[in-house]
Amino acid sequence: MNTSTAALTAPDRFEAQVDRHLLSTVGVAPADASQSDIMHAVAQVAREALSRRWVASDATDRKARARRVCYLSMEFLIGRTLGNALAALDMQGDAAAAARQHAASFEDVASTELDAALGNGGLGRLAACFLDSMATLGLPSFGYGIRYEYGMFAQAIAGGRQVEHPDPWVEDGTPWEFPRQAVAYPVRFGGWVEHPESPAAAPVWRHAGQVSAKAYDMVIPGHGTQRVSTLRLWKAVAPAQIDLHAFNSGDYQRAAEYKNQFENISWVLYPNDSTPAGRELRLRQEYFFTSASIQDIVARHLAEHGRLDNLAEQVAIHLNDTHPAIGVAELMRLLVDEQRLPWAEAWAITQQVFSYTNHTLMPEALETWPVSLIQHVLPRHLEIIFRINHEFLVMAAKARPGDDAFLRRLSLIDESGERRVRMAHLAVVGSHKINGVSALHSKLLVETIFADFAALWPERFINITNGVTPRRWLAQANPGLAGLLDRTIGSDWRLHLEQLSRLAPHAEDAAFRQEFLAVKRANKVRLADHIRTATRIVVDPDSLFDVQVKRIHEYKRQLLNVLQIVARYQAMLADPEADWVPRTAIFAGKAASSYAMAKNIIRLINDVGAVVNHDPRLGGRLKVVFVPNYGVSVAEVIMPGADVSEQISTAGTEASGTGNMKLAMNGALTVGTDDGANIEIRENVGDDNVFIFGLKTPEVEATRAAGYQPLRIYESNTKLKAVLDAIAGGSFSPDEPARYRGLVDSLLWGGDHYLLLADFDAYCEAQAKVDALYRDRDAWARKAIANVAGMGTFSSDRTIAEYAREVWKLPTDR
Ligand SMILES: *Cc1c(COP(=O)(O)O)cnc(C)c1O
Repeated sequence: MNTSTAALTAPDRFEAQVDRHLLSTVGVAPADASQSDIMHAVAQVAREALSRRWVASDATDRKARARRVCYLSMEFLIGRTLGNALAALDMQGDAAAAARQHAASFEDVASTELDAALGNGGLGRLAACFLDSMATLGLPSFGYGIRYEYGMFAQAIAGGRQVEHPDPWVEDGTPWEFPRQAVAYPVRFGGWVEHPESPAAAPVWRHAGQVSAKAYDMVIPGHGTQRVSTLRLWKAVAPAQIDLHAFNSGDYQRAAEYKNQFENISWVLYPNDSTPAGRELRLRQEYFFTSASIQDIVARHLAEHGRLDNLAEQVAIHLNDTHPAIGVAELMRLLVDEQRLPWAEAWAITQQVFSYTNHTLMPEALETWPVSLIQHVLPRHLEIIFRINHEFLVMAAKARPGDDAFLRRLSLIDESGERRVRMAHLAVVGSHKINGVSALHSKLLVETIFADFAALWPERFINITNGVTPRRWLAQANPGLAGLLDRTIGSDWRLHLEQLSRLAPHAEDAAFRQEFLAVKRANKVRLADHIRTATRIVVDPDSLFDVQVKRIHEYKRQLLNVLQIVARYQAMLADPEADWVPRTAIFAGKAASSYAMAKNIIRLINDVGAVVNHDPRLGGRLKVVFVPNYGVSVAEVIMPGADVSEQISTAGTEASGTGNMKLAMNGALTVGTDDGANIEIRENVGDDNVFIFGLKTPEVEATRAAGYQPLRIYESNTKLKAVLDAIAGGSFSPDEPARYRGLVDSLLWGGDHYLLLADFDAYCEAQAKVDALYRDRDAWARKAIANVAGMGTFSSDRTIAEYAREVWKLPTDR
């Protein structure tokens, strides 16, 4: 492959370079280097090679005056970089040899790298997979986000409960970033707007405060190509002169306060998932990174082209959810107020530049900001939003004269209570393409929250189903399976995941099935080791590993899984001699720090585990473990070791899911509802190779509409009643019998909004089928292989190729 680095990667030179970096960068004698020192030195060697590719990619794009895509995302959940960088550079063998020189395994060396956890969950991880695919497909591309000083909190479990620790991931520096001293933009806040008498003069924003956004770049390597992409993260820095003024007058405390007040913008990631944080600091974060990114885009364009009328021909700006939606108003402000373009021309450009991906239908997760807050923080943007809204509603009124309700529903401003700006509406009006992230989700988008917009602009709404990068989630996470694939179907699947379909006929080959099961067994041993180290619980790698890993959220229904586990426990106690299939239920995931119900569910999982895991009557045939600190690196250990993938959200709530894809790609069988991308996974791997159960989306709606009564189900279902009574009565919290009374009451008396009780029986039936199949290891292996073979379409390369073609209008290398 990479001929230009061939000389560089000759083993002697590689090891010599590592030693040089141990001395010159890390500052340690090679003979005394720790594993972490070696990691840093190897990373430096990779960094140099990446930097070379970077300079070349950048020069090519500038010379070609290439059209670029800029992907704006509040979150990038990257995880570790070293293994991925070495794979892209074709330096894995050299790095392993260098590690051996220092009597260490490469795995141990690599595991000393801290995760870059600049995201909460699926949305942030999607952005990271997209960067990998954009680079791999050779797209001229930039990711833009925030360089949070503190990423996603680290989760520990103490006494069964979640404890949150800060994640100062850059405190000791990271080898992967390049501070760009020269790239900085002012970002302003507050104040008021002056409108000069002369209509020819631009409005003047008299801001009250200003912060400098400084660029820190990370190189994103492409695979099978010399091309790289850039992730540009912004750090907030208080302007130096104001600092100095306070310092000079001796008021150190005021100087420090001022500095904090602005620099706190990029301090911490909000640890919320699927619920917006209604805080002023969050709004400042959103505007901060969006403004800096758009200023950067406009400045680069002007430097390359010297004019703005062709901006939309040269740049696509993508909004990953509504967090950067204020960018629509910001680009208008830059074009109209600062660059003095006429409004109509600026608006035509803006609409052609932006596109937007929606990630949720749940009303409580849709971002809105009080008009009064935007007035306070971004007064000029509020005026611009009002004008966009006015012109939009005038246009919409022509489509449906006299229909005021239609206009009220469409308006960018929700007037039903305290007036609020609907960020999703701003994103839709400002974009030429809007997409959902799975077929079902995109269909529901135009039927529900965007129905009125779809009536106006049907051509704007499309579907692009999510995907995940096979480099990280198969090649890196599962070297055993990757090797088996290479020997069986060749190695092209890394870049052309459709090739996995060639695996299908091998399911009929008994020897191949044995090899496949042996790989799975080894991955389960690795996972069991991790579980023992992280929880001190010993689990049996021959038991069925039943995995539910994702953010803890009521709609994802970890609690339904717990109910099923308790039912199993009770059934086992009632008939301990029966031939039970041994099972290990594995949970992992973080709960938002303010989400009491989710935290209580974590505690219940641990409390159930504490009872079940030590009950001698079970003979170890049921274990329940909660793996702490779910994140990318923990996921890389869990996914390959899973037999069953739990994807059991209430139908109509999970936009897509990507954990479901990673697990199926690694040979786990899905137990799932008819929701999100589960539906497309079923279509691709075959009905017989997944366990789909429960109410479908229209049935969920009908059940609620008919006046759902969970208490009725409880009273008529003895098995379910016994489960809920045990939990509510303190069977799993003997030291505090009432601990879970409230949780059970929320189901029985609180309406059970996510319909756990309605789906309970169907779920248990699906689990019984899982048990029956697992007894026949050979039949199981066939289905697991069919899952891997059917997952070719779920590569983020396919996803990004669709965005490039249908949204961004960019040619790809494919
Ligand atoms: C893939 C992934 C997610 C998303 O999981 P879902 O099951 O789709 O919610 C969340 N967190 C991490 C660390 C991931 O790797």
